[in-house]
Amino acid sequence: MPLSEPTLTQPVRVCFGADIRKTIAQEARLLGASRALVLSTPHQCDAALEIAELLGPLASGVFCQAEMHTPVHVTNAAMAHVAETQADCVIAIGGGSTIGLGKAIAYRTDLPQIVIPTTYAGSEATPILGQTEDGVKTTLNDPSVLPEVILYDPELVKTLPVEMTVTSALNAMAHAAEALYATNRTDETDKMAVEGLTAFVEGLPKVIAEPSDLAAREATQRGAWACGTVLGKVGMALHHKLCHTLGGSFDLPHAETHAILLPHAIAYNARAASAELQPVCDLLGGDNAGLALHGFAKQMNAPLALRDLGLDERDLDRAADLATTKPYPNPRPVTREDIRALLQAAWAGDTPII
Ligand code: NAD
Repeated sequence: MPLSEPTLTQPVRVCFGADIRKTIAQEARLLGASRALVLSTPHQCDAALEIAELLGPLASGVFCQAEMHTPVHVTNAAMAHVAETQADCVIAIGGGSTIGLGKAIAYRTDLPQIVIPTTYAGSEATPILGQTEDGVKTTLNDPSVLPEVILYDPELVKTLPVEMTVTSALNAMAHAAEALYATNRTDETDKMAVEGLTAFVEGLPKVIAEPSDLAAREATQRGAWACGTVLGKVGMALHHKLCHTLGGSFDLPHAETHAILLPHAIAYNARAASAELQPVCDLLGGDNAGLALHGFAKQMNAPLALRDLGLDERDLDRAADLATTKPYPNPRPVTREDIRALLQAAWAGDTPII
């Protein structure tokens, strides 16, 4: 079911529905494309091949080498395919890693993008691109990076294993939670953030109880779209800074790191932004948004301890140093001592400090 028809003033076309991926040839034609390059990770190559088959003569090739954190050497290899196949459109089927590769190509070529997300990370809804070169991750924000079409097919996200479903959902919820106290938030972003959080609070337990419940999967995908959209509209704070530090400098996995840190970062900021975070308490109960999220994460069997991701306790001092140099704007002042204590609690899997 299309959420919006394409118009000149609303450049992103967003569609939801079981089997919506099967309209891919029509979507490519709507963009005026006749040579689409399909992208995926090696793990999701079969899904990419299915899309190429559905495209028939509109497919120019398949490139299944997308990797986490969008390494520039992978983008360069994909760019060679774009040139060889004379692609006039890219189609990314997968999570944030594959979507990142499509965005990196669009940034270099301005080719239109169709994205078929299979996780809840939300990258499809943002004009943000993170790229890694020589171990350094840099992030840019550019309109050319925002995909033109998003097709949310619950059939695809139903194969997301339960553990990844939970961590990816908490990753999405983190965008919405931090949007609630963003310095540049608006009534519209507040509304979308609450919509996104509500979709996951209501939908995630259903999805976990029955991973192939397509109605619940679609509801959570709508949540992912709302959470991703606010991520693209407002600035993020302490939680995202901590995740970028641990992902970039200690190679911790993206969604799991978000899932573990979210209750701790929100508990930290609840002292300074309890009114802004009230919608989280309204949804989950209690009077501290961080503790409420911790309870929700526990109920969902989310990972709770950074040590379980392989982070060495001896790295916590350096992580605290890195996370407190050039901090993002944050409702509660960030001190090295407080962040060191927060990281210790998150490392051990303790209840967040309030
Ligand atoms: P991912 O794309 O790295 O996927 C993780 C693994 O799960 C991959 O092997 C993938 O093939 C597999 N997978 C994905 N969907 C699946 C499904 N439905 N069934 C089975 N397997 C599936 O994970 P992610 O968390 O979606 O993305 C993380 C990356 O996205 C990070 O690099 C992060 O920085 C980036 N990101 C960017 C933005 C942005 O706005 N630029 C936003 C969020 C995330």
